[in-house]
Amino acid sequence: MTAQRIDGKDLAAQLRAGLAERAAALRASGRQPALAVVLVGDDPASQVYVRNKIAACKQAGILSVHHALDAGVREGELLARIHALNHDDAVHGILVQLPLPRHIDSQRVIEAISPLKDVDGFHVANAGALLVGRPGLRPCTPLGCVRMLQHIGLSDLRGRHAVVVGRSNIVGKPMALMLLEMNATVTIAHSGTPDLAQTCRRADVLVAAVGRPRMIGGEMIKPGAAVIDVGINRLPDGTLCGDVDFAAASEVAGWITPVPGGVGPMTIAMLLANTLQACEQA
Ligand code: NDP
Repeated sequence: MTAQRIDGKDLAAQLRAGLAERAAALRASGRQPALAVVLVGDDPASQVYVRNKIAACKQAGILSVHHALDAGVREGELLARIHALNHDDAVHGILVQLPLPRHIDSQRVIEAISPLKDVDGFHVANAGALLVGRPGLRPCTPLGCVRMLQHIGLSDLRGRHAVVVGRSNIVGKPMALMLLEMNATVTIAHSGTPDLAQTCRRADVLVAAVGRPRMIGGEMIKPGAAVIDVGINRLPDGTLCGDVDFAAASEVAGWITPVPGGVGPMTIAMLLANTLQACEQA
């Protein structure tokens, strides 16, 4: 079997066209959707992510305001900036690019963002809303994975088994909850899972969110499975690869996302969608 490629770049472009129309409708009604992007320090990878997010906002007609803070900024100063943004009616979404320097408590910073403007969906109020099935802002990466599954016709996963490898607060855990919401029977695997290969082979939907280059081999995949590769790993030669061995997995899976060009562009599209949702509900 040769898997069908789920082209995240293409799907994200389609979604972004619709989002641009939503943004235009908001502007026509006198509301300019706006996202504040806070970057602390000069980590090159973070700078690239922030640049991409700002460019995507511009293309969709969302105003983005960049707040660049020095790497040595005091936590109190960062919290004060967030507080001001929370009270600024012209700002609908606040994104603090992670990771933050070690002297800053990231969780405290996330909790300082108003849940109504928490477009990353990391605030405990939004995490709780997801847990109990209430409306809220959903984390962008797992939300993008859901959109990809819906795109290939996997909207209701009743009777199917989903396995998520990774249990981070930003990807693995919310992903598992969203798959549960889609009626899948869900397993979460992590570094303490004894026979990962066997666990993965039970998956009709396999989501890899680990951060280890090509650790999911073809022998770990159930024939015909949908494989969503969240991992972004930089190899010594500078190229990017996912957590899944794409070539080997493509021989077995039914659908597979590439890296790059898979989940990454979908994450950015979902950030725009969340910003519009926050603006519409403001
Ligand atoms: P974390 O490092 O926070 O979490 C990694 C998870 O993988 C942990 O739960 C860890 O388990 C688990 N893990 C580590 N080693 C193994 C192993 N050998 N077997 C099974 N599980 C293992 O990473 P993130 O969730 O933040 O990110 C995961 C990947 O996704 C990264 O490559 C990141 O760059 C990428 N990413 C991509 C995004 C996108 O837009 N495409 C967005 C966000 C992240 P344990 O908890 O037991 O330590």
